[in-house]
Amino acid sequence: EAKRRGRNRFQVFSSQLRTDIEHRMRTESGLRRALAGDELTVLYQPVLDLPSGAVSGAEALLRWDDPAGRRIGPDEFLGVAEETGLIVDIGAGVLRAACARGAQWDAAGLPLTVAVNLSARELVAPGLVAGVVAALDASGLDPRRLELEITETTVLADLPAARRTLEALREMGIGIALDDFGTGYSSLTWLQQLPADTVKLDRSFITHLCRSAQDEAIVSAVITLAHALGLRVVGEGVETAQQLQVLRRLGCDHAQGFHLGRPLAADDLTALLHA
Ligand code: C2E
Ligand code: MG
Ligand code: MG
Ligand code: MG
Repeated sequence: EAKRRGRNRFQVFSSQLRTDIEHRMRTESGLRRALAGDELTVLYQPVLDLPSGAVSGAEALLRWDDPAGRRIGPDEFLGVAEETGLIVDIGAGVLRAACARGAQWDAAGLPLTVAVNLSARELVAPGLVAGVVAALDASGLDPRRLELEITETTVLADLPAARRTLEALREMGIGIALDDFGTGYSSLTWLQQLPADTVKLDRSFITHLCRSAQDEAIVSAVITLAHALGLRVVGEGVETAQQLQVLRRLGCDHAQGFHLGRPLAADDLTALLHA
């Protein structure tokens, strides 16, 4: 009886596994086609300067429009893109697009800082710095207008190598932001170990900012610590006016979230900024 059940369980497991493998293979071949064709788009979410309230930057966020007309978010395909290494070419495309767009905004009198997310595979790829230099040269964007966002998982793979790469980028004038800050267990030690300019406080701390005294204490302490170390702070995932008000009161430097602006097509953001 136990043996029979065990075999059934194995069958359930193996058909789940097959479904997963099929999903991965479909995603991988889809991504290869997306990369070769015209299916990847970059949206831009505004980042506000506090307290002025002006839009001072935009984060580049990748989308995949598949041939069936479905718009797919990065959470659905980044894992496969990283495992297969496709993220290196995809990321290079995002970087080129974002630098070109940043230069266009600059020329139009909109001096925004453009933020681009980097995954672990990209950071340790041998051509990263050269790719960044090429994207900057091709676009003419001032390196000080570019910010690269990394997370704890991005750097954990090889901390010394990550640090060297980040230092090289920073010497060029590029900003480094620690994304989703506060979600890993070693967040505070990163501040010592990594060259950075900005801390992006994870949305999970902002969500309960108006209802939880503990969350307000944590946010306040991180802002104080970051400022003491010469870092700027961005509050992520601001969804209400009250959350924004608390961040302002606590001295947070920047804010980003659906309350302030959703990720938009570049031209739509441009129109919004001109209006
Ligand atoms: P992230 O870098 O932390 O980006 C912020 C995510 O939160 C975005 O999700 C954004 O749409 C979402 N968001 C912004 N404001 C709010 C809000 O008020 N409420 C809520 N609930 N969500 C908000 P998205 O675009 O789905 O991207 C997810 C993650 O995928 C990003 O998280 C980033 O880690 C990664 N990613 C996106 N684009 C790229 C890329 O070009 N390259 C790489 N390597 N990673 C990317
Ligand atoms: Mg980010
Ligand atoms: Mg984030
Ligand atoms: Mg994230």
